[in-house]
Amino acid sequence: MLVEFILTQKVVLGVSACNMGCPVRYNRKGWDRIKTLKREEGDFKWHPVCPEVMMGLGVPRDPIKLVGGNGFDVWEGKAKVISKKGEDVTEALKEASLSIVKLFKKVGATGFVFMEGSPTCGVYRTSLKNKRLGNPPGVLGALLLKEGFFLIPALDIESPLKWWDWRRRLHAFAWLNKQNISKKQDLYNTWYTLKFLCQEIDAKKAGELGKELGNLPNMYDASYVETFKRRVGDILREPSAPARIKEKLWKSYVYHKRKLGEEIEEINPPTTERSITKIAEELNLMERKAFEKGEFFSSAPILYRSSQRVSKMLEK
Ligand code: SF4
Repeated sequence: MLVEFILTQKVVLGVSACNMGCPVRYNRKGWDRIKTLKREEGDFKWHPVCPEVMMGLGVPRDPIKLVGGNGFDVWEGKAKVISKKGEDVTEALKEASLSIVKLFKKVGATGFVFMEGSPTCGVYRTSLKNKRLGNPPGVLGALLLKEGFFLIPALDIESPLKWWDWRRRLHAFAWLNKQNISKKQDLYNTWYTLKFLCQEIDAKKAGELGKELGNLPNMYDASYVETFKRRVGDILREPSAPARIKEKLWKSYVYHKRKLGEEIEEINPPTTERSITKIAEELNLMERKAFEKGEFFSSAPILYRSSQRVSKMLEK
């Protein structure tokens, strides 16, 4: 079994508290999107936070908004955060955001599941019901982006295919950050593990990085390891596309069938029309079958499995 590609420690994630069942929005609303994960929820360690409550605003409260720019502009002193009554709450929100980042670093958080459209927690440009949301990133979102966290839109948890894509990239990202790279061969091995996934996400960036590694001198600067990790991490933070995911699934299945002679009739070629939910089921099945056979599934190269489950597998 490819034990070196298995995370046995749960990935630690921060989450906007209003998406983990806490009614902490300005209007006392909240949702539990995490519970959509069902049993899988237990594969992660969660840290719910609400920066607006932590900055001293209660529930219910006046909504706040960004004035003069986005969260990056706030950190550069070019924009402000103003309450509905016109009160300037910029400094209090910056302070709360800094303390959250400090907490996330202390608990070893890899990523953050954020509420879209929030002037505080929002990160990427997202739209809901065809309506553009906010002016992202928000104040905490900008700080987390700058600090290199892996950032997941909470709504995507409710889509089986999008979540499968976020989860596999998150695990690859967490594994990459843990790699102790001290020599050129370690760099190559790390790249070889993640390159198929990176190629699927962004063939151009992956191609450039592959070429650069091929031309790396033997005496490369030690700081290159950090640059390499940051560049691979940046690729892993980008979502893939359903068409590419389907194609890779089929290629992996064909490889699996040829190598092990195992047919999995539930897996379909990319041309077969099927729902997003069905594709996600096929991906999870392929992931499981490859794991059981100790095979490398290049679309999802890094998996989480509890240490008990890995020990049981090793006993067989
Ligand atoms: S989006 Fe962030 S700041 Fe707003 S209620 Fe949710 S957790 Fe609190």
